[in-house]
Amino acid sequence: MHPQHPSAASLIDLGKRYWLPVYRPRDVVLDRGQGSRVWDTEGRDYIDFGAGIAVNALGHQDPDLLGALVAQAHKLWHSSNVFYTEPPLRLAEELVQASGFAERVFLCNSGAEANEAAIKLVRKWAAAQGRPPQRRVIVTFRGSFHGRTLATVTATAQPKYQEGYEPLPQGFRYLDFNDAAALEQAFAAGDVAAVMLEPVQGEGGVLPAAPGFLARVRELCDAHDALLVLDEIQCGMGRTGTLFAHVQDRVKPDIVTLAKALGCGLPIGAMLAGPKVAEAMQFGAHGTTFGGNPLAAAVARVALRKLASPQVLVNVERQANDLRAGLARINEALGLFAEVRGRGLMIGAVLAEAHRGKAGAILDHAAAHGLLLLQAGPDVLRFVPPLVITDEELAEGLGRLRAALADYAGA
Ligand code: PLP
Repeated sequence: MHPQHPSAASLIDLGKRYWLPVYRPRDVVLDRGQGSRVWDTEGRDYIDFGAGIAVNALGHQDPDLLGALVAQAHKLWHSSNVFYTEPPLRLAEELVQASGFAERVFLCNSGAEANEAAIKLVRKWAAAQGRPPQRRVIVTFRGSFHGRTLATVTATAQPKYQEGYEPLPQGFRYLDFNDAAALEQAFAAGDVAAVMLEPVQGEGGVLPAAPGFLARVRELCDAHDALLVLDEIQCGMGRTGTLFAHVQDRVKPDIVTLAKALGCGLPIGAMLAGPKVAEAMQFGAHGTTFGGNPLAAAVARVALRKLASPQVLVNVERQANDLRAGLARINEALGLFAEVRGRGLMIGAVLAEAHRGKAGAILDHAAAHGLLLLQAGPDVLRFVPPLVITDEELAEGLGRLRAALADYAGA
């Protein structure tokens, strides 16, 4: 190590001292990446099975993303939405064309903001229909995750994210995920304006919607003049093997939210609005200073083009099969998983009864063995590698995982 370089421990101390202590990162300071591999400040390398929480879908240092970023950086960084720039204009057109349902796009900076916009759009649409506030209920599902702003944390039907932030905004109702009968009953009250859900629940444990569930939600929404809002912030942008996850469920949503892999690492979010709602918000109804920032939008245009390409989507299927096969082999040897579930390269390994609550401890072992891994709650290991991960990187990651799990099991 170069003598002038600060040690990882001294850097981590800064975080412990100065950051609001809302995070608990592993004791690693990452420094640079290439493909699906990342190096820390001490020179150790890691296979990246987490992609910055399903963000770095094209891995690290993708030359086309880098080219777009640098080219835009030499032109204009920011203009606000008081003036036009080309990248967000083109991005909006390209998102509409790629979506097959949307007419308009609102660009923002994060997933929570995209969902906040969706919630506000539902309310504005319902208000314009003459529905009183108490008949503008948004149904969401237990285990969901929609963000950390006050409205999106209320949409997030998990008490652990809400506790202490009361009073919460009104007008949300929670149901069990995949429970179509409960949804039918909820509609009977006559006050539901929208149903909002993730086609594959991410943070809640990598749980896909049951076959036919989304189609049933769509039917019920149509029957009761309610909107279908899909949060594809984690499962969208090619992650499940199609650019949008919901095309696999054969439904047309009214609103879709995107973020995470949309910018492949640059912060950007988007809310896509279909014909029912595209005109519901007019001048002054919503806004943000940074939304559609030309740097992020220039990168997102390239991300969208590449993530929609057959090359990437075929790789998702191929690597997902290999990852599942590898997890099955590891499980034959170690017997740690009760179930492996998910879609495409969004895979959760549910820990067996005896290992419940141990996902965090396993992540420590993984990092020690050179593997960046995520959890989805205390009981599920979450695999969301870059969608461009290679055969070699995947095999190496699986090897490191096996060693980490053997270490954990023997401890
Ligand atoms: N929605 C889903 C499905 C997510 O997975 C996340 C983040 O994990 C969010 C919303 C919130 O996105 P952000 O952290 O960018 O605000």
